[in-house]
Amino acid sequence: MAVHGIDLGTTNSAIARTGPDGRPEVLAGLSGELTTPSVVLFASPGEHVVGEGARREARLDPERVCTLVKRRMGDAQWRFVAHGKSWSAPAVSALILGSLVADARFATGEEPTAAVITVPAYFGDEERRATILAGAYAGLDVLDVLSEPIAAALAYGFGRLDGSADLGKSDSADDGSASAPPSETVLVYDLGGGTFDATVMELADRRISVLAVEGDHQLGGADWDERVALHLARRFCAEHPDAEDPLDDSAGSQALVLAAEQAKRALTDADATDVVVTHDGASVTVTLTRAQVDEMTAPLLRRTLDLTRSCIAEAERRGVPRVDRVLLVGGASRMPAVAQALQRELGLDPRLHDPDLAVARGAALYGEKKELERMVVADLRTRGRLRDGTPLEDAAPADLDDACRRVADAFGVPLAQVRRAVEIQVDTVVSRGFGVLAVNSAVGRLEPSWLVHRNDRLPIRTSRSYGTMRADQTEIQLTVVEQQGQAESSRPEDAKVLIVGGISGIPPGHDEGSEVRVTFEMGFDGVLHVTAFHVDAGIPLTLVATTGATLSQAEVARERDQLGRMRRRE
Ligand code: AMP
Repeated sequence: MAVHGIDLGTTNSAIARTGPDGRPEVLAGLSGELTTPSVVLFASPGEHVVGEGARREARLDPERVCTLVKRRMGDAQWRFVAHGKSWSAPAVSALILGSLVADARFATGEEPTAAVITVPAYFGDEERRATILAGAYAGLDVLDVLSEPIAAALAYGFGRLDGSADLGKSDSADDGSASAPPSETVLVYDLGGGTFDATVMELADRRISVLAVEGDHQLGGADWDERVALHLARRFCAEHPDAEDPLDDSAGSQALVLAAEQAKRALTDADATDVVVTHDGASVTVTLTRAQVDEMTAPLLRRTLDLTRSCIAEAERRGVPRVDRVLLVGGASRMPAVAQALQRELGLDPRLHDPDLAVARGAALYGEKKELERMVVADLRTRGRLRDGTPLEDAAPADLDDACRRVADAFGVPLAQVRRAVEIQVDTVVSRGFGVLAVNSAVGRLEPSWLVHRNDRLPIRTSRSYGTMRADQTEIQLTVVEQQGQAESSRPEDAKVLIVGGISGIPPGHDEGSEVRVTFEMGFDGVLHVTAFHVDAGIPLTLVATTGATLSQAEVARERDQLGRMRRRE
C-alpha cells in the first residue's frame, strides 16, 4: 500500500509515509538526513546530483546548479540550460522527486508508486499542474496535490487526536487526550525558503476547514539571504574599492548568498556572527548582528505580517472572531523576529511546530487517508452498497463500518486507523479568482468576468451564461483567466491567461445574444476544468487548462525521453 507524502520544498524536500502504527515517519536516504536540499547539479550531459552534494558544488559550478526551481513552477517559458540541454521546472523538480523516491526505496525496500505532493496554499492552477507533471515525470501516480498549511495542520491535528507530543517537537499538545479535543481556530504562518503562506483554519475533532488563505510565492527565506548578501557585498566593496564586486560574478554572488544564509541561521541562536567575505584576492570580516539583519529585512517581514493580518480579517468576515493558536512552519519561521512581530503587532502567541517535517508528515497522513478511503469505497461498490459516482458520505453507517472492518482485516491495518482515515474531512478554499474575458456592455470593454472568487469553498461547480455578440456568429473565443493580485481587477492585463479555447463551426441561424453557458469546476486539488456550451446550437466544448503556460505535448514527450536517459550520481 503506502502512498507516500512528499514535501517538494523550495529549498528543502522530504518524503514520508505512515508506519504500521499509523504514525507518519519521514524517510531518510543513504545520507541519513531527513531533508534533501532541493538543488540539482547537472554534472555531465547524462548525470546529475541532487541534494547536499549539489548544494556544496553550487559554489564552484554555479552555471550547472539549479536552485529555487519551485519559484519557476507554472512558468512555461522558463528553462534551465546545462550541457546544451534545456530543462523545464517540472523536469528539474522530477529529478528532485526521483532522489526522494530513491531515499524511500532505500529506507523501506519498497518502490513508491503513488504520492501526495504538497504545494503552497497560494499556488495557482498552473503551478499545481506543473507539480502534477513533475510527479508524472518521476513515475509517480500523484493522487492529489495538497496545500502545505493543510498538511501541517493534519500533522498537528493528528498529534492532538493521538495525544502524542512528538509531532510538534517544541509544542506539546497540551489537550492531547484520546477523546475528542475541543475545536480550535489555527493560523498557520508558513515561511519557507521561497514562499510564504498564511492560512486560517478551524480544527474540529475530525474536520479541518480552511477559512482563508493569503500568500506570496515570491517571498521566502531566500529573500532574506539576498538582502544580507547585498549588505556583505557593500561592506566588501567599501573596504576594497579596487576589487571586483562579488555580486558581479556568478561564483562570487553564489558564495555570498550561501554565506548570508549561514549567517542568517546563526543569528537565530546568537546575537552576532562574523562572516568572512573573500573575493578577487581580497578579504573582509563583517560582523553582523541580529538587530542589523532584522532592520535590513524589515520590509520583508512586514509583508508577511500584512498578508497575515488580511488573512485573519477574511476569517473574521467569515464569522470566526479569534485565532486560538498560531503554528509556525517553514524553516525561515525560526527567525526570532517572526514570533516577536506576531506577538507585538498581532497579539498572537506563536509556537514552532515541527517546522521542517510537519508538511511531509501531514502529506503522508493524507496519502494514507486517500488510499484507505479508496479501498473502503471499492469494497462498498463491489458489494452494491454504494452506487458508482456517489460519495462515501452517502453510505449507510452500518455498511461503512462493515467495509472499514473488512479493509482493516484484509490489509492488517488497525480498525481505528481505517475509521479515522475515512472520517477525517478536509474542507478547503480556492486561493485565487478565476473567470473568463467577456465584453461588459455597460462600458463596451473586454473585462474579466469572475466566476470563482478567492476563498470560495472547494469543491466548486459554477456556471454563468453569456450572450453571443452577433447574429449568425459561427465562432466563439473563450479566454479563461486567473486573478494575479490581491484583489479581483476589471483590467484584462492584470489577469493571467490560462486557456484560450473556442467553439467553432456553429451553424448560422442563431440570434445575437444566444446563450453560451460556461461552467467552472474545481476539486480539492485546486485544478480547474472548464466546459462551455452553446445552448441553442447544442454544441459543447470541453477545455482542460493545458495550454497557456503549461508545456506542450511535444515538449512533455521530449522531456520524458531526456529524463529517461539521465542517471543520478549518489
Ligand atoms: P523550508 O523551505 O521550510 O525548508 O525552509 C527553508 C528556509 O528556512 C531557508 O531560507 C533557510 O535558510 C531557512 N532556515 C532554516 N533554518 C533556519 C534557522 N535556524 N534560522 C533562520 N532561517 C532558517
